[in-house]
Amino acid sequence: MNRFFSKLVQEIEPYVPGEQPKDKKYIKLNTNENPYPPSPKVLEAIKQVNDDLKLYPDPECSALRETAAEYYGLKKDQIFVGNGSDEVLAFCFPAFFMDKKLFFPDITYSFYPVYSKLFGVEYENKSLKGHFDIDIKDYLNRDGSILLPNPNAPTGKYLELDRIEEILKKNPNNVVVIDEAYVDFGGLSSVKLVDRYPNLLVIQTLSKSWSLAGLRVGFALGNEVLIDGLNRVKNSFNSYTLDALAQVGAKAALEDITYFNETKSKIIKTREQSVKALSKLCFDVLDSKANFIFASHKTIDAKDIFEKLKEKGILVRYFNKPKINQYLRISIGTDEEMEKLSIALKEIVE
Ligand code: PMP
Repeated sequence: MNRFFSKLVQEIEPYVPGEQPKDKKYIKLNTNENPYPPSPKVLEAIKQVNDDLKLYPDPECSALRETAAEYYGLKKDQIFVGNGSDEVLAFCFPAFFMDKKLFFPDITYSFYPVYSKLFGVEYENKSLKGHFDIDIKDYLNRDGSILLPNPNAPTGKYLELDRIEEILKKNPNNVVVIDEAYVDFGGLSSVKLVDRYPNLLVIQTLSKSWSLAGLRVGFALGNEVLIDGLNRVKNSFNSYTLDALAQVGAKAALEDITYFNETKSKIIKTREQSVKALSKLCFDVLDSKANFIFASHKTIDAKDIFEKLKEKGILVRYFNKPKINQYLRISIGTDEEMEKLSIALKEIVE
């Protein structure tokens, strides 16, 4: 290891994002991006920016937060904006998690343990039960903060809102963060609980259901006090986390709800068709409320399938980790892309 690195950097194991290969054109079903382009209004708005770029962007993202407040039915001061929801999640660590234990599932978004190590937060993993289910009993009356993705990743499984509410009620003195990166694909958002539970922080992103992974915009939605906590961290780190283009682009996206609803519905429909197609090919597919499915073939090794699909120009995500190393996480593409996946899988399993 490099002698110039701090002990922390020597020891940390950074998060590894899904591949963005340049060697050839793949059908990309490995990073849960949206197969449809963003609303055309996003680019139109970005093109209007012009020489405003000589100025620093609005550090408070006021116009965007106003539009977001309208969309979410919240007050502007209940909204925090960050450079992707990853950044918003990262800010939660110094803001809320530092001096207590943090609880999250053993199988979940793999950035959580990385942030924990980066910020020196002690964490405890709770095992999923049954067929990859979060057992809420593991999160009741805890002596620490709670971080849960809903739907969970990479399983796609969704926890009903009454279950989330139970966790909130039984942890009045702990911050409970619900990461809703995938909630628009069939789940209900816990954002409607924000006014009743001052300990709830909901995190959303424009990367998935709004087709804007490249713009990097994420939100935290919660009580004004929690939002203030995030602002204290942000303003001690970087005043301008969101550039001017991202701010106007994101605002334009949130103003085009018709487009959002259309693409979201298409993905949900394609997901249901894909579940049927894979089940016919003897895959066990978990019940997903996300824009991906998590599937395991009854007899063929997942890594083998992953490699053969790659040879055929189709990228999916394989995690070489205990408990999930026989599963593939497959993002939902267009109908045409999923049809090609089915054909390729049929050739492989036969
Ligand atoms: N949460 C979960 C569960 C995710 O899978 C992702 C995407 N990798 C994110 C948050 C972060 O997404 P983004 O930073 O693009 O908003």
